[in-house]
Amino acid sequence: MKANVLKIAAALLLAGTVAGCGGGQDAGNSSSSSDARDESALPSAAVRTQESVDDAAGSMDESAETAGNEMENAGDQVGDMAEDAGREAERTANEMGDRAEDMANDAANEGEQMANEASDEAEQAMSDTAGAMSMDDSESAASADSGDPCVVNVEVGDSIAYSLDGISVPSSCDSVTINLEHTGSLPKEGMGHNWVLVPSDAVNDIGTAGMSAGIQNNYVPDDDRIVASTDIIGGGESTSVSFSLDDLEDGVDYTYVCTFPGHWTVMQGPFTVE
Ligand code: ZN
Repeated sequence: MKANVLKIAAALLLAGTVAGCGGGQDAGNSSSSSDARDESALPSAAVRTQESVDDAAGSMDESAETAGNEMENAGDQVGDMAEDAGREAERTANEMGDRAEDMANDAANEGEQMANEASDEAEQAMSDTAGAMSMDDSESAASADSGDPCVVNVEVGDSIAYSLDGISVPSSCDSVTINLEHTGSLPKEGMGHNWVLVPSDAVNDIGTAGMSAGIQNNYVPDDDRIVASTDIIGGGESTSVSFSLDDLEDGVDYTYVCTFPGHWTVMQGPFTVE
């Protein structure tokens, strides 16, 4: 057994030597053989390289495509965003337009309302004036209807004016009574009034002379042309005067006037007998 093992070992050794010599030769050609192997390996490596290049290119293409897609997507997104922004802007513009329109409408409505209110106020003022006028009419009518058409109520106040623009009495009156009432609050020294009946052509003379007559004479001068006159009264006071129509001359126009200084040019009215 041991001998066989040795024989086998020797044989192996021999074979190893032979193989070693061959191997030396092979080693001389090793470069070529390895070149050949490399050459044979090269194509596959090139292919592999090519493949990997292709792969790389492909993946680059893919990357590029992906990037392109992404850019396209991004572009789409930008486009969408721009579109959205445009829509938003349009919506905002519409809203602002609507709001502006609303504001304009509100302003127009407000203006119209103010105009209506102003118109209403004007109408109210006019109807008030009409009411006051009709009240005056009814008052003068009432005084005329209040029984005695020969008694006339005249009001004055804190302004330079009589409540009546003119007085007319029937010729049938035996006498005429003028009731003068000061409904204001100013004293007679500041805003006193009286009622003086004079021929119309004597108004200027008597009006002017009244000032120098003084308040102690009720600003009534001593003049025979004066038909009738009341005292000067202030706010809250009243007075009256009665006279006969026989004191009036036919064919002469008569005027009643306030002879308080400065009032006669404004405070006067026609007195007629019908
Ligand atoms: Zn007066």
